[in-house]
Amino acid sequence: MKVTEHIKKAEGKTLFSFEILPPKKGENLQSIFSRIDPLVEFNPPFIDVTYHREEYEYRELPNGLLQKVVTRRRPGTVGICAAIQHKYKVDAVPHLICGGFDKEETENTLIDLNFLGIDNVLVLRGDAIKNEGAFCPEPNGHQYAAELLEQVANLNKGQYLHEEFPDGATDYCIGVAGYPEKHFESPNLSTDLYYLKKKVSAGADYIVTQLFYDNQKYFDFVKRCRETGITIPIIPGIKPISIKKHLTLLPNIFHMDLPQPLVLEIEKCKDNKQVYDLGIEWTTHQCKELMAFGVPVLHFYSMGRPENIRKIAQELF
Ligand code: FAD
Repeated sequence: MKVTEHIKKAEGKTLFSFEILPPKKGENLQSIFSRIDPLVEFNPPFIDVTYHREEYEYRELPNGLLQKVVTRRRPGTVGICAAIQHKYKVDAVPHLICGGFDKEETENTLIDLNFLGIDNVLVLRGDAIKNEGAFCPEPNGHQYAAELLEQVANLNKGQYLHEEFPDGATDYCIGVAGYPEKHFESPNLSTDLYYLKKKVSAGADYIVTQLFYDNQKYFDFVKRCRETGITIPIIPGIKPISIKKHLTLLPNIFHMDLPQPLVLEIEKCKDNKQVYDLGIEWTTHQCKELMAFGVPVLHFYSMGRPENIRKIAQELF
């Protein structure tokens, strides 16, 4: 079932969902199930599975020279989605990225997902390869998420890359990313919203936001989106702080601000146990306010650590 249908069916009640990362290469499926199991009792109608592009590694050869190796450290998104749908009877939402894929590979992945009975995709550009400065599309790949989205929307009309198959039309519900504090490459929020609106006009069905810790940023973002004519659901992305290092790590990776009252409280913590508890308290409060605002879904970035999210969900659902 589509994410938008789950939202409609909930009739205004806030739903619980979360995102997982595929396991590192070499880990087994059970390691993923053990991260999902603690959260299943909160009835997630859908679970997102991230996609990870290739990375470069330098491996030392016996002769001491370094060999450049291209590898995916977290492959398996498609297989994990199938396993989730099979085991939990919950809709899996694979992330699809431009980075590292040409259009042909994307089409084949979309065909696989369709055959597996997957109804949703979250369409993203992806970031630059680690240790490369700027995002660079594959030859015959996509530069922006909007272009990838167009490919999915075309497939929904039966328009494949080289031919038309009306009977082979897919019916994907398409999600896209939005940034309450703007995307880090964008010169300002207005420009970012201009491109977000383009994704919506090209057929996006819902938006999931980058994580944030100041609800006012989300409320303002929703207001700006509505003013520009974006009417689709805007799902807030949530991640509890759990270690002191997050003070610098999160802004560095996700390009968002931490509100000063939270920073001051974290700085007062004597150890990571206190930070962990504070993160639960802050996020629970944040979620209660978002629920009162009427958000359709609280979407948690679990990053493979379900325990604090479980404690928060117990308070809310
Ligand atoms: P785009 O929508 O393509 O936007 C990228 C930038 O280009 C923005 O600054 C935008 O304003 C600008 N822009 C867009 N169109 C144009 C245009 N035509 N001309 C000029 N500028 C333009 N990454 C992964 O690798 N795997 C994942 O699974 C993953 N999951 C994510 C889930 C969520 C909810 C979010 C918020 C992010 C996720 N990311 C993931 C990270 C994401 O790939 C990065 O944030 C990436 O840098 C941007 O992706 P996007 O889809 O927002 O890109």
